[in-house]
Amino acid sequence: MRLFYNGLVNRQQNLFEDAADLKWNEADLRDRLVAEVVFNRPMETGYHYLVPDPLREMLQPGQRVKVPLGRGNKLTIGFCVGLQHGMPAEISGKRKLKELEEVLDREPLVNRKMLELTRWIATYYLCSWGQVLHSVIPAAVKKNAGTREYRLFRIADGVRERLDDWQLTAKQKAVIEVLKAATEPMLIDQLTEAAGCGTSPVKTLQKKGILEAIRETRMTFAPNNKKVEREADLQLTDYQQQALDVIIDTIDGKSPPLHPGDKKDKKSSRGETILLHGVTGSGKTEVYIRAIRHIVQYGQQAIVLVPEISLTPQTIRRFSKRFDSVAVLHSHLTDSERHWHWQRIAQGKVQVVVGARSAVFAPTPNLGLIIIDEEHETTFKQETIPRYHAREVARKRAQLENVPLLLGSATPMLESWWKANTNQYRLISLPERIEKLPMPPVVTVDTQNDPLISRGHNIGRALRNSMDQALKDDGQIILFFNLRGFTPVLWCKHCREKICCPHCATSLTWHKDRKLCLCHTCDFTSPLPESCPSCNMPGMRHFGSGTQRLEDEVRGKFPGVSVIRMDSDSMKKPGSHNEALEKFRHGEVSILLGTQMIAKGLDFPNVTLVGVVDADTSLHQIDFRASERTFQLIAQVAGRTGRSSRGGRVLVQTIQPDAEAIRFAAEHDFIGFARQELVHRKERQMPPVSDLLRIILRGTDEKLLELSAIDMGDILREHAKTFDYEFRVLGPGPAPLSRLKDYYRFHIMVSGNHHSELCELINSCRKKFAKLPHIEYALDVDPLHMR
Ligand code: ADP
Ligand code: ZN
Repeated sequence: MRLFYNGLVNRQQNLFEDAADLKWNEADLRDRLVAEVVFNRPMETGYHYLVPDPLREMLQPGQRVKVPLGRGNKLTIGFCVGLQHGMPAEISGKRKLKELEEVLDREPLVNRKMLELTRWIATYYLCSWGQVLHSVIPAAVKKNAGTREYRLFRIADGVRERLDDWQLTAKQKAVIEVLKAATEPMLIDQLTEAAGCGTSPVKTLQKKGILEAIRETRMTFAPNNKKVEREADLQLTDYQQQALDVIIDTIDGKSPPLHPGDKKDKKSSRGETILLHGVTGSGKTEVYIRAIRHIVQYGQQAIVLVPEISLTPQTIRRFSKRFDSVAVLHSHLTDSERHWHWQRIAQGKVQVVVGARSAVFAPTPNLGLIIIDEEHETTFKQETIPRYHAREVARKRAQLENVPLLLGSATPMLESWWKANTNQYRLISLPERIEKLPMPPVVTVDTQNDPLISRGHNIGRALRNSMDQALKDDGQIILFFNLRGFTPVLWCKHCREKICCPHCATSLTWHKDRKLCLCHTCDFTSPLPESCPSCNMPGMRHFGSGTQRLEDEVRGKFPGVSVIRMDSDSMKKPGSHNEALEKFRHGEVSILLGTQMIAKGLDFPNVTLVGVVDADTSLHQIDFRASERTFQLIAQVAGRTGRSSRGGRVLVQTIQPDAEAIRFAAEHDFIGFARQELVHRKERQMPPVSDLLRIILRGTDEKLLELSAIDMGDILREHAKTFDYEFRVLGPGPAPLSRLKDYYRFHIMVSGNHHSELCELINSCRKKFAKLPHIEYALDVDPLHMR
């Protein structure tokens, strides 16, 4: 839908302004409405535009507008983010204002709170407000998917009393009578049917000005609601009850101050963050549900963020069974569905919104609580502009709306753990599994001297024996292996050259099922080369394994046992993930093997053995969080077993059984691991003890890129000296992924004591950065992925 403004008035105005001098112009402007507009471009500020009188009534902050931009006055879409009377002080006398051309939305797409939130994101993550707004409003909402514009008829304003002035036919009179009796404007079909006539009397009445047509946008889409069977609440354990009490006290503004001795302002204190540290299987979801129940009774709504919708079907189901109206925002929604959900949420008709990262922007009108489940997961960080972390955005939103934010995890991210231990978050814990089930014993197996592993097998002797035993006892097995494909490395036995992607610095992985070599970075594919691309000699060697090779091995070793492989290759079709899990749940499948897809949130009582086939891959990542990730991974995968009285055990194959991450994970000792790891972070001045910012530079010429990268490092170091704060500039150096889609990549890390100081430093350098030749650069605040 577009509302066009008559361009003629606009042009006359411009002529008039050209003739006038600036001073005169400003005096005249005192009463004019001025709009601030931001764009989906990397610009530091917005621009101001005069609002022509005919548009005054329809323009509000949060709507999209079309305005002339730049020297060529190219009509460009932007967001109106503010309105004021007269010239803004900062540009007064400096510039003449252009006029706004068109208003694109009938209603604001975001409310004032969301405007404030998005502005905060832009400042915090060093990008433009317009880029943030563009990114957080779904395309489906912007294009009004699943709606149609209807024409509705009613008796024109002020005509009702003068109806006798006209000579009307019987049919026309019938139409009038129907409309007089109607409480709302009517569609033409309804109207003609009720009046028993065709369309021409209606048209004539409209021509005479007796009837008027109004336009209304309505949803044409309505999903068919599947009925979900309801489930009763569980009787909480003592630990669950204690945790819930703290959450409810915070919701009600009754909890004691976080900092002992602080006076507490009852009203402002609800916007706290609570960290729920609960071991795997401790019943965190039940606590979430009961906390939501508490706010729903006040007519409020909750937002629940989960790492990935398709990977957490069990959690989703639990919510759907406990509340009347749950909206699940997953990535397979059509545009119409997404828009429909958005509207229902905005109307307050949804009690619980469950979704991945972007659901943090759900337009709930009366938010009561935000929950982030598995808060340590990296999917909560967006890797494109704006590179926000849903936890930080949720924290800000919770503060703005004065509601609590509840984070839950068995392995909280060290950032959260640190804050909980320095009284910035409130900490509650569930130290035991439900029904006091013991944590499963974790055995680490040193594979250095394993005869099978030395011969290239993936399953060593100990794991093989444990699998035999588990199958004999009718148990089920989960095997975790975080590398997809058949073989990750192909090399020539003559010149020893690796086969690499022509566009990236990544070796190609052989996918036996598709009979293709694949780049896992850019999805480039090529057939398996028969001879070496470098030396032309035949005889390519395969090195290493992925899930496909592991599957072959398992099928070979356990003939007759049903196996299912779950990775992004085998689970491409929507719903296939759920289908596979159902088979496993019903015992049709005995061995489930796969990538991190199977590490999350699954709850199967019959799983008596979990095997981590190779713990070393994640330990050897070039990333200061490698150890933390390895700990999380083992702890989470281990959490998939021992979930019933049948018990369960975990076997971890590694060549580094002494690595801290593996030792602590084997003891289920998160607190011990965190304490130790925080010492290392402090020594290395890394998060969470210091704040970090990463600059990723790219260019097509490696040498020129490197020179500009060195200049950028120098600029940073120069500027850093002019501040009183302490900074550390590391690099530049080639990024761990040194080439991506034909671009060479370098990176620079800057650490400091506080995020705001880092931003000051960067902002002071920006003008000089912009002049550096041969590079593009991206700023990543609080970076999570180091590739
Ligand atoms: P977590 O998310 O902490 O790993 P879950 O929420 O998956 O744990 O709970 C583990 C299992 O315990 C689930 O099957 C759940 O239904 C069950 N459960 C949770 N709370 C209770 C309770 N109070 N009484 C009985 N069973 C419970
Ligand atoms: Zn590639």
